[in-house]
Amino acid sequence: IDDRLFRNAMGSFATGVTVITTENAEEVHGMTANAFMSVSLKPKLIAISIGENARMHQHIKEAKQFAVNILSSDQLTESKQFSGQLNLESEFTFLNYKGLPTLEESLAVVTCELHSDYVVGDHTIFIGHVTGVKLQQKDPLVFSKGKYRELKELEDLKE
Ligand code: FAD
Ligand code: NAD
Repeated sequence: IDDRLFRNAMGSFATGVTVITTENAEEVHGMTANAFMSVSLKPKLIAISIGENARMHQHIKEAKQFAVNILSSDQLTESKQFSGQLNLESEFTFLNYKGLPTLEESLAVVTCELHSDYVVGDHTIFIGHVTGVKLQQKDPLVFSKGKYRELKELEDLKE
């Protein structure tokens, strides 16, 4: 199967966008990720999938904790910055929440202790045990078919 066909097909599954944040030796690291899902309610577990070449891979292994910042539609700049599409090093401030750096304007923040990790192909799936959750009344940033989008409500189907 052709890589581009696979990516186009996977990209047709619309997702939100997150920035994973963690801290090692007082240095904050962030990375944009859309491979995120809720896994379990009791106990509360979530999963992220990080490519083997991403620096974040090693940062999470060392810190053994991370935050998932679910981006709002006004955080396009953050998504671009933390995926290497922009370089605005000095413009980001991080709010400490449950001992982790987080992005204040996020739609939701989920802080986690590393529960387990599984090497699967060229990615590692990190399972996080949730230690804190924050939620704001905002709309999500959406990623679909390789483009950033905003949500628009559909009209109710009429009989
Ligand atoms: P770096 O390349 O070191 O960091 C990424 C960028 O963030 C760099 O430009 C860096 O300057 C900046 N940055 C880091 N820390 C800070 C800081 N403290 N202050 C300011 N800037 C900082 N890859 C995956 O593995 N899994 C996914 O689920 C995934 N989903 C993605 C979804 C989208 C919508 C996009 C656009 C990309 C996605 N990627 C995903 C790709 C991933 O975001 C990039 O490959 C990323 O550059 C890898 O980051 P890194 O850990 O190697 O860290
Ligand atoms: P794209 O067309 O590369 O991505 C569309 C979809 O394909 C993504 O949502 C994801 O589901 C899948 N995908 C892309 N690269 C993948 C990878 N290396 N491993 C597993 N699944 C992958 O979209 P784009 O706008 O060109 O993406 C920007 C960059 O971010 C690219 O370099 C892409 O590889 C990377 N990215 C990586 C992942 C990931 O590792 N899970 C997810 C999204 C984007």
